[in-house]
Amino acid sequence: MIEERLLKILRCPLGKSKLYEEGDWLICEQCGVKYPIRDGIPVMLIHEAKLPEGISKVEELPCQQGKNKSE
Ligand SMILES: [Zn+2]
Repeated sequence: MIEERLLKILRCPLGKSKLYEEGDWLICEQCGVKYPIRDGIPVMLIHEAKLPEGISKVEELPCQQGKNKSE
């Protein structure tokens, strides 16, 4: 379990959205990306995260549309 206090300040690094906890995962309310919780510590790294079904890369996420076009 993640401390509620911590959960409140954590944001998805992609869209700065709130996250909710589900089992061993922290899931972004907006883009649905799942970040693993390892030994009680959320791993907020996109290369460690699990993308939602139907999404094969980060650029396809709704929260990334219209962003980072120059990269
Ligand atoms: Zn997100």
